Amino acid sequence: MKTVRVAVVGAGVIGFSTAVRIAEALPICSVTLLAEKFSPDTTSDVAAGIVLAQEFPDIPLERQRRWFKDGFDHFFAIAHSEDAPEAGIMMCSGCQIFREAPANMKPYWSDIVIGYRPMTDRELKRFPNHKFGQAFTTLKCECSSYLPWLEKRFRKAGGRVEQRRVNSLQELSNDFDIIVNCTGLGSKTLVGDDQVQPIRGQVLKMDAPWLKHFIRDVDGMTYIYPGIHSVTIGGTRQVEDMRLHVDEGDSRSILERCSRLEPSLRKAKVLYQSVGLRPGRRSPRVERELVQMGGRQVPVVHNYGHGGWGVSFSWGTSMDALELVRQCLQEIPLQAKL
Ligand code: FAD
Repeated sequence: MKTVRVAVVGAGVIGFSTAVRIAEALPICSVTLLAEKFSPDTTSDVAAGIVLAQEFPDIPLERQRRWFKDGFDHFFAIAHSEDAPEAGIMMCSGCQIFREAPANMKPYWSDIVIGYRPMTDRELKRFPNHKFGQAFTTLKCECSSYLPWLEKRFRKAGGRVEQRRVNSLQELSNDFDIIVNCTGLGSKTLVGDDQVQPIRGQVLKMDAPWLKHFIRDVDGMTYIYPGIHSVTIGGTRQVEDMRLHVDEGDSRSILERCSRLEPSLRKAKVLYQSVGLRPGRRSPRVERELVQMGGRQVPVVHNYGHGGWGVSFSWGTSMDALELVRQCLQEIPLQAKL
């Protein structure tokens, strides 16, 4: 019997991953996902969607490793299932190149991706401005397919979906026993988190089916990621820039930088361009708190602030969010569970 009412706020890759986890693992909960915007209008829809990792300064490395591995294994399993085309997940081989060799030549994720190795001098020859490279196979996730796939999975597990802007968590306190906040950049205002800041990113979708390998120039914010329907090229990283329209200067700069790495892009047609605001934060916030709302303490679980790597870490951090909801269940008044 479903007796604990859970609200998940946010319909990006973090909200839907978390909602699926809770709805599938905790049959005692009735889960409602509420959000102002849904696919194709979220930041997640703009994500280039490569599964890669960065180091977050405030999270123990072991926890980050677990998050990344959890996500990698999840996407890997989908890529090798019959759901792969519908979910928009594929394997993707390529390289990350560096102008100077990084201090840490063997990052924590190197034994999670497949076949990680330093590039040979012969391979690096085509990138004369770069001295070091890492070759490996990872995954690529097209969120415009993955989000509808997650929504279908969520509804199948009994979840409900409601389009609605939430102006304050207080609004939800009468109708829900536990609130899960997955609002990304929205957390800046919804929970007053000053650490959250927009980081603008612009990408171009190219018709270049001959390109099969990804290239990421780590220092230059430049990348070429072949996907199922097109090749995504980028990018920009403009802190506190809220402009959501395409900037033609950025488009020219992206095309120029990417064509230097892959000259055949000069012959490719631009299919469309998009802009998204990454939910920047020093490290993601994945924790729970009790918030005083209208005379009672309501458990709130936060899962937001994934910056430029929300797709990669979505499945891993949503596992922790699920565990935090489980802990909340131990503490909410018994009558809610009966
Ligand atoms: P969002 O997708 O922004 O979703 C937030 C949700 O919360 C929305 O549904 C919104 O409507 C809702 N919401 C917010 N406030 C409220 C409110 N008050 N009331 C109701 N609803 C609310 N990541 C990778 O891992 N790999 C990549 O290659 C990659 N490339 C990227 C390229 C670009 C150009 C950009 C912009 C991002 C990229 N990212 C990548 C990062 C990734 O897109 C983000 O980290 C991720 O999308 C964040 O997901 P989210 O669910 O937290 O936020």
